[in-house]
Amino acid sequence: MMEKQINKFLINENVVTFGNLGIAPKILDVILRLGFKTPTSIQYKAIPEAIEGKDIIGIAQTGTGKTLAFGIPLIQQILKTGKERGLIILPTRELALQINESIQKIGQGFGIKTAVLIGGAPIGHQIKTIRGNPHVIIGTPGRILDHLEQKTLRLYDITILVLDEADRMFDMGFAPQINKILKAVPKNRQTMLFSATMPDGIVKIAVNHMKLPVRVEIAKSGTTAENIEHELFIVKKDQKFLLLRKLLLDYKGSILIFARTKFSVRKICSDLRNIEISAAEIHSNRTLSQRKAALEGFKLGRYKVLVATDIASRGIDVKGIELVINFDLPENPEDYVHRIGRTGRAGMGGKAISFALPDQRGKVKDIERLTKLYLSILKLPDFPSNLNQPSDNFNKRNYSPHRNRPSHHFGHGKRK
Ligand code: ADP
Ligand code: MG
Repeated sequence: MMEKQINKFLINENVVTFGNLGIAPKILDVILRLGFKTPTSIQYKAIPEAIEGKDIIGIAQTGTGKTLAFGIPLIQQILKTGKERGLIILPTRELALQINESIQKIGQGFGIKTAVLIGGAPIGHQIKTIRGNPHVIIGTPGRILDHLEQKTLRLYDITILVLDEADRMFDMGFAPQINKILKAVPKNRQTMLFSATMPDGIVKIAVNHMKLPVRVEIAKSGTTAENIEHELFIVKKDQKFLLLRKLLLDYKGSILIFARTKFSVRKICSDLRNIEISAAEIHSNRTLSQRKAALEGFKLGRYKVLVATDIASRGIDVKGIELVINFDLPENPEDYVHRIGRTGRAGMGGKAISFALPDQRGKVKDIERLTKLYLSILKLPDFPSNLNQPSDNFNKRNYSPHRNRPSHHFGHGKRK
């Protein structure tokens, strides 16, 4: 099973290696030394095009290696001429730190310098790293714009621009900031956009900032990662926590819980601690160092549960998250794809369980339409105050923790 999963994630290793993609031998050495043997589909298709300097719209499922798909070409071009400069814009602080780490892992030995410009971190230190003339700037829109406005940052020498989680970067929340930043970046540049979701409306806007982009699409926008089993409970608001508590007893591994607001994240977290489940929280009311400590502690297994707002829904790569729970359904169907994409990464299995209120059927339909999946509805388990649960006409399977292994149900419910 494991074999099969990995082979689906990676390209057939008898035929394809990183060696045929135009990657310089010295970079190839590092990639292999880091333990990457075979490229993923998006890497296989995007790297040769990106090395040639083409503009790219890259669409591939969550957890399939999009970072190196742009990271390797970026580093290679910088090393080749010494003149290229990269700017990577992404939606959150956590993602900026993670992408910096990935770039550093390959680039550090070659003297590639990076600057991470994110909110919540001391601006003085950032100014110092900018003065060090970094090859790659990695940051969130708000802080990059702050630096531009304070004239502590100039982007006139940027030649390669990457927007990771690009659809998020062009959506209503970020668009005004992105537009201002793009005005400071030279028009003559390479532009690369990557995401697992790319609504047509966003592509239309984005291509205005690009030169005849190549569209590298491994799976249709909105396709979820393979090997994730999806389940749904229809549950009343006041029973959500009882249900959560029941589920947490059945799962031994790491669990990521998404809630809609920072207030509900905080509440869930403290309720969990009250029943002695170790939980950490990530939302915008926490400081950068609190957020770092929460994610780090979760990665190290110090906390069994991480509770977060959509801040943690995009890009975050934590190995071995067994289960993602949508305590509240996400605002947009795209967010569903990203949230549950925190599990089932790099060919691993995973499970996603969502709680929908009885009047949220429409939202569930939207998710099913985008992902082309049916979310199987489970019957609520018995808990003490479960007297008048909502009745409906759906066929429900009984909830049973024995179904936790994703393997036999993989592919179940795929709409053809
Ligand atoms: P995405 O951006 O598509 O969600 P990431 O770039 O975060 O995915 O990569 C997901 C995980 O897969 C990371 O832990 C990364 O180290 C790993 N990975 C990336 N490329 C490969 C590869 N070619 N072989 C094995 N693992 C890989
Ligand atoms: Mg990514």
